[in-house]
Amino acid sequence: MQIMDGKHVSQVVKNDLKGKVELRKKNGLKVPHLAAILVGNNGASETYVASKVKSCAEIGYISTLIRLDADISEAELLFKINELNEDFDVDGILVQLPLPKHIAEQKVIETIFADKDVDGFHPESVGRMVQGLPTYYPATPFGILLLLEHYKIETAGKHAVVLGRSNIVGRPISILLNRNSYPGNCTVTVCHSHTHNLKDICLQADIIVAALGRPEFLTADMVKDGAVVVDVGITRVEDKSKKSGFAIKGDVKYDEVAPKCSFITPVPGGVGPMTIAALLMNTYKACLAKE
Ligand code: NAP
Repeated sequence: MQIMDGKHVSQVVKNDLKGKVELRKKNGLKVPHLAAILVGNNGASETYVASKVKSCAEIGYISTLIRLDADISEAELLFKINELNEDFDVDGILVQLPLPKHIAEQKVIETIFADKDVDGFHPESVGRMVQGLPTYYPATPFGILLLLEHYKIETAGKHAVVLGRSNIVGRPISILLNRNSYPGNCTVTVCHSHTHNLKDICLQADIIVAALGRPEFLTADMVKDGAVVVDVGITRVEDKSKKSGFAIKGDVKYDEVAPKCSFITPVPGGVGPMTIAALLMNTYKACLAKE
């Protein structure tokens, strides 16, 4: 069994980007600029945005963090996004989800200009991805592709089972694994909460991507020997032994599943850091697209 070390691979990606940014600076070219909007003070969202901003600084990007109160109106938020849309210096815009209930997430997603949509959630980006056209892939699925590529995992002709069909993870990774490219060319089955015989389907999988948000859902009896398992899940569960009061759990019962796998991602340190690396790659691409 080999661990797919997202921390390591994301560092490789970041080092590469850092080198490219240094070169751009030397040549007097524009440095990538990511603008992040954080609404309210959800603990997990704070952590995610903080690590995105920190990663930008690490590799020499400019980042702007815009913090807005939880009770900001939808109109005010859309106005702010439009300001960033119009700001030539800003290459990529991300609005950290989830948003407070009174704001329509879809409206927010569709307000970001598609050419600054580094999270890859805009319907134009998704449509282009489905049609195999150049675009920004959503960061988490893109991060998973980078990980599979780094470890040279064979995907062509493999049966990939994706657990979950959300717009940000399950559905896009199912499309990307099915595309006619590498990593891709898998035969993909997408499972959700209405799927029958989920365990039997998982047992047929060469590759499993677990993105349900159900801690330790995937157990050893659901995984065939030699499978590749990608654990996307991140759930905070109460743990009084920790200083923070919680522990992070993936969707895979790691200790019992790992010995059966050829490759597996840990949580934390697997898909999470790769999501940030992919976001940084998208932002670099957005910067270049202006030239
Ligand atoms: P989501 O929007 O809640 O979607 C969960 C999906 O899982 C849904 O499609 C749901 O089915 C399915 N599902 C839930 N319970 C199920 C069950 N018992 N059997 C079969 N299917 C079930 O979640 P998400 O946004 O995709 O996130 C999934 C997990 O990934 C979360 O833990 C999240 O925190 C984590 N995440 C991690 C990263 C990262 O960077 N590592 C990024 C994004 C998300 P229905 O469609 O039928 O409801």
